[in-house]
Amino acid sequence: MRDGVPSAAGPATPAPVISQDIGALRQRLLSQFHIAFALMSIIPLLLCCYLITVKFFSLSILAGLNGMYFLLAVVFAILGLLVGQFLIRRVMRQLVTTNEKLEAFHQMQAAFVSNVAHELRSPLTVVKGALDNLADGLHGPVSTDQMEPIAMSQREINRLKRLVGDLLDVARIEAGKMRLVRTEVDLRECLNAVAKSFEGMLKQRGLSVDVDMPASPVRIIGDQDRLSQVFINLVMNAIKFTKQGGIRLRLSSDAEDAQVEVVDTGRGIPAEDLERIFDKFERVGSDDQEGSGLGLPIAKAIVELHHGRMWAESRLDSGSRFIVRLPHTQPT
Ligand code: ADP
Repeated sequence: MRDGVPSAAGPATPAPVISQDIGALRQRLLSQFHIAFALMSIIPLLLCCYLITVKFFSLSILAGLNGMYFLLAVVFAILGLLVGQFLIRRVMRQLVTTNEKLEAFHQMQAAFVSNVAHELRSPLTVVKGALDNLADGLHGPVSTDQMEPIAMSQREINRLKRLVGDLLDVARIEAGKMRLVRTEVDLRECLNAVAKSFEGMLKQRGLSVDVDMPASPVRIIGDQDRLSQVFINLVMNAIKFTKQGGIRLRLSSDAEDAQVEVVDTGRGIPAEDLERIFDKFERVGSDDQEGSGLGLPIAKAIVELHHGRMWAESRLDSGSRFIVRLPHTQPT
């Protein structure tokens, strides 16, 4: 995962201003309610008019005991409507207030996570630097016995750094502050570079790799680093969850979109979990692999910032296919 602040400022993605959204939602709910209530009120009024003018053709029905019952019925109907209106309004106000409170709580939580992640970033970088220097023998020779705990600490620090990077990405996405540095990107080049970076790991795990690319470049407008982050996450997952067989990277293109597929022969994902895996902190199946459950939601958000789509198809114990569709050009 890429950590730190994006390298350069690009066109800002509009931030979802949540309080404005809630205000608009409240207005919309209230006006919908007024329309619905007006429509509801028209029905008994029309009925009265109909009874008076069409059915009985005279006001004589208002006379005598029957007239009193009729008027009482009308009064009760109107009272019922008014009480109904009052109750529905109150329930709606409570719903909107609860929503506002939840949203405020969610924003506080997101700000807290973001602050903690920011605070952790610098000390982690310092500790990692110190450990790397130790391992490289900068502070004197390191014995094999000493190397073991150093290597273990390096692994854990790298894991923590990845987690902190993911938390910062989630915080940026949720605040609408993830900025894309848009340039012309050749997806063929990008995917080949990703495949190459995993060659060693694939070999080590005895997995085959099949890269299926068109003969000519497939260009889109996008953020090269962020797109690489998406493909790295997909390939990393494919390797993580595949014990035997291999992975396949396929790139194709039509007039509107480029399509990237990452296919594996791994453990697969149950059909009922296919949507869930794109939610934050969701992990399915046995918990035998390291991971935070943030990679896919971040990848999906990045694809959507590119006005693309991402989804998964899978069969349990047969493998999975992750598909990313990206438009060649961004809508203006
Ligand atoms: P993690 O860091 O835990 O891998 P992700 O968001 O990348 O987080 O993935 C979420 C979950 O989706 C994983 O924990 C795993 O259960 C499931 N998953 C993702 N990719 C695959 C895959 N290729 N095969 C099987 N399961 C997968």
